[in-house]
Amino acid sequence: FSDLGFEGCIEHVWQDTIVYLDDDSDPILIGRAYGRVCRTKLHEELLRMCVESGVSYLNSRVKSIVEASNGHSLVACDRDTIVPCRLATVASGAASGKLLQYEVGGPKVSVQTAYGVEVEVENNPYDPNLMVFMDYRDYTKQKVSSLEAEYPTFLYAMPMSPTRFFFEETCLASKEAMPFDLLKKKLLSRLKTMGIRIIKTYEEEWSWIPVGGSLPNTEQKNLAFGAAACMVHPATGYSVVRSLSEAPKYASVIATILKPGHYKAIPGRQISNENISMQEITILS
Ligand SMILES: Cc1cc2nc3c(=O)[nH]c(=O)nc-3n(C[C@H](O)[C@H](O)[C@H](O)COP(=O)(O)OP(=O)(O)OC[C@H]3O[C@@H](n4cnc5c(N)ncnc54)[C@H](O)[C@@H]3O)c2cc1C
Repeated sequence: FSDLGFEGCIEHVWQDTIVYLDDDSDPILIGRAYGRVCRTKLHEELLRMCVESGVSYLNSRVKSIVEASNGHSLVACDRDTIVPCRLATVASGAASGKLLQYEVGGPKVSVQTAYGVEVEVENNPYDPNLMVFMDYRDYTKQKVSSLEAEYPTFLYAMPMSPTRFFFEETCLASKEAMPFDLLKKKLLSRLKTMGIRIIKTYEEEWSWIPVGGSLPNTEQKNLAFGAAACMVHPATGYSVVRSLSEAPKYASVIATILKPGHYKAIPGRQISNENISMQEITILS
């Protein structure tokens, strides 16, 4: 994150990260620091960069993107606003099926579900200097089968101070989404079993992240980016650093392709409005 120039958006850094796989073995120290990004600061920084670079912003929902007879794309927005462009890049998140076509017959999408709370606690057993990335220890030790046990989950524990924590019960990936009430029940029961007492709740979070699934069809006219382009890590559900890392290269290839005279400079290549997105993908891959 620092290498990308966003160091100023990190609000908390833990010098190491720990993983508990089970009760019988020692926890694993990953040997890498972990940072928490301040969403407000990152938002402000990205907006500042957009303003500085002259990006135009239209506050509207895109209803469809259709092709005009001259090969350009027409982005149809609410209130009958139409934005014509040579290349539309769709970055509308994981649920972009209305604006993009995806490969048929690809892997079925799974889902990561999580329920989290930022709380003030008593009796915290964790070292506040370590970020607990995954605690897979079985706190129930139940022999009887239960609905909760059908979904393997782990605890993600982020100490903000010795008494203030962000705890999240996470089901990393499942075919069907784990119900939020079950995740909440599991988290509260885990904390209780560990002897952790919540004395104040600051924030609750429900997280639902599609992981895996088909890639966008590369033959279509529109380009996809971010979660819309399945740039979400299939195991962690993370995508922010990946998208921010890829964005400059992606934008630079688009700028080069759209430059007037670009194709005259490449013998044997002709301007083809139909496949600008295809050319971008070819250059990037
Ligand atoms: C609770 C939670 C915690 C997470 N934690 C992490 C983490 O720690 N690290 C990490 O890397 N990832 C994390 N993720 C995942 C990460 O947030 C997503 O992968 C990331 O936001 C995807 O970014 P994106 O810009 O591609 O899509 P989005 O963030 O989904 O943004 C898409 C945008 O497009 C807009 N939009 C959608 N449809 C239209 C339309 N028709 N017209 C106009 N606008 C439209 C939406 O309003 C939205 O603003 C987390 C997700 C959740 C839910």
